[in-house]
Amino acid sequence: MNFVRKKRIKTRIIQIMSDEKRTEIGEIGEFALIDQLAGNVVQYHERTIKGIGDDAAVFKSGEELMLLSADMLIEGVHFNLSYMPLKHLGYKAIAVNVSDIAAMNGTPRQITVSLGLSNRFSVEAVEMLYEGIRAACEDYKVDLVGGDTTASQSGLIISISVTGLTNETNISYRSGAKEHDILCVTGDLGAAYMGLQVLERERMEFMENPNMQPKLSGYDYIVGRQLKPRARMDIVHELADLSVIPTSMIDVSDGLVSEIFHLCKNSNLGAAIFEDKIPIDKETYETAAEFTIDPNSCAMNGGEDYELLFTLPQSDFEKIEKHVDIHTIGYMHSQDKGKVLVTRNGNTVPLTAQGWKHF
Ligand code: ADP
Ligand code: MG
Repeated sequence: MNFVRKKRIKTRIIQIMSDEKRTEIGEIGEFALIDQLAGNVVQYHERTIKGIGDDAAVFKSGEELMLLSADMLIEGVHFNLSYMPLKHLGYKAIAVNVSDIAAMNGTPRQITVSLGLSNRFSVEAVEMLYEGIRAACEDYKVDLVGGDTTASQSGLIISISVTGLTNETNISYRSGAKEHDILCVTGDLGAAYMGLQVLERERMEFMENPNMQPKLSGYDYIVGRQLKPRARMDIVHELADLSVIPTSMIDVSDGLVSEIFHLCKNSNLGAAIFEDKIPIDKETYETAAEFTIDPNSCAMNGGEDYELLFTLPQSDFEKIEKHVDIHTIGYMHSQDKGKVLVTRNGNTVPLTAQGWKHF
């Protein structure tokens, strides 16, 4: 094509683009964007049991169900290398992916690791990242089977896919909760968020005074929860030992309330949770007080806890009642009763999801 014609076409394309309505992603949000994209996706294979919309996709594979999930971590969005050691980052990248397999009540099997590397990174730095990746592969017994390596102009990008296995009896979708089911969460919440506040505070002080030493002692637990999250595969195995199969499950990556909203939406139900039942560690509580942040708000809307949130029939309550790391925080009720919080002084108020906003 001659140059003048090419140029005319280019000008026309720019005109068409500028005539079209432009919607900012932030206007509709990440979840609405995914819903919109999912609405136009066609599935060609009968063996694809579940596509977009759960913690992992589900495929039939002989007698078993295969799980597949992907998660990406981007420098400056998900981590800051000034306080995130590369080895921890490698571990975390695997753990957060395994967490999505745990959320389907499955066990992880294989991972691929794809990297975008800027020229700031040396071979030794990438080796450090892989030390963490290998440690996580050993802990969760997953095989690293491939990936991709490319240059990046915007820092470090880590994109991981993970496969897992479960079966039709054991699988837990977000959509399976039933009215009157109890709502349970593992571990404690809000710690990773408060850990991040401490790390950010120290980073800001360091930028003002590079001779200072970061003051992290006394914050070991919450900083560890931010830098070294674990996937709750221990809970998946313990639930199996107790003969408990969650009717629905999700992992807490964006914040408790945001995940409750997902379970409610997918199961066509509402939920009630009790403020005084939400598990918060002492260190989270005390640090929140120091930062004059409401600890309940950290626990409900802080992200990156990677705990499991699930529902069980009331008849299973006795089986988990004495488990030290499983907390019953509420119950599911009909959709018209809404999503509510029963506060410490007995008031019932609507739950509001803030979650993590990337856009
Ligand atoms: P999680 O927090 O458990 O990782 P997400 O909120 O990231 O889940 O994703 C929710 C669902 O949307 C998943 O099924 C995921 O595979 C799907 N999804 C996310 N982004 C895209 C995309 N760009 N295209 C297609 N599916 C996507
Ligand atoms: Mg998830």
